Amino acid sequence: MKLLLVEDEKRMVQALSELLRQEHYEVDSCTDGPSGLAAAEGGLYDLIVLDVMLPGMDGFAVARALRRQGIRTPILMLTAKGGLDDTVEGLDSGADDYLTKPFMARELLARLRALVRRNLPSGDGTLSFGDISLDADTASLVCTSTSQNVRLSEKEYRILEYFIANQNQILTREQLAVKIWGFENDAEYNKVEVYLSFTRRKLAFVGSKTVIKAVRGIGYELRCENV
Ligand code: CA
Repeated sequence: MKLLLVEDEKRMVQALSELLRQEHYEVDSCTDGPSGLAAAEGGLYDLIVLDVMLPGMDGFAVARALRRQGIRTPILMLTAKGGLDDTVEGLDSGADDYLTKPFMARELLARLRALVRRNLPSGDGTLSFGDISLDADTASLVCTSTSQNVRLSEKEYRILEYFIANQNQILTREQLAVKIWGFENDAEYNKVEVYLSFTRRKLAFVGSKTVIKAVRGIGYELRCENV
């Protein structure tokens, strides 16, 4: 689980990073608004912990900018004590939850777990886009217009899951490599191409009109035409 921590108080960054790593989160941190926004824009994180008072750009502006761009990563906002207005503005700006400083580590961890659960595919365990859906229980791809289905490998499943979670966005090869394989390495980029072609074959196999389109020089996008 990749978590982005945007907080300018160094002691807080250190304490929270340590706590979150103990809980097996992979933590990256930024200490001002603009760099936090730039890091979150890639859509690579599963969770964002965002302080309100930040140099350069406050947490509300960061959250609003992310939501405007269609980045739906769950945000837990850290607000000042007694600031009811902050709480309201935080939720209005697109944060999913808030926590008032000072807070207990236990509460932060519980809130984060709740956000992760809320963000999981809905009740029946499916994620869908256009004429396809993913069945998490059987790790299969289902085409709703042809009723055909096929089992996916773990990587194919994660690729489609990532595209569906970021629908209507172009994902770069780098984003796919980091998200699916978890590290940046030029050698890995070839694997992305290979697995995208496997995934395309599965889409064609079930007779889906959903395609992974290459956007020249930028990346790839999931598109469904004529449904
Ligand atoms: Ca602060």
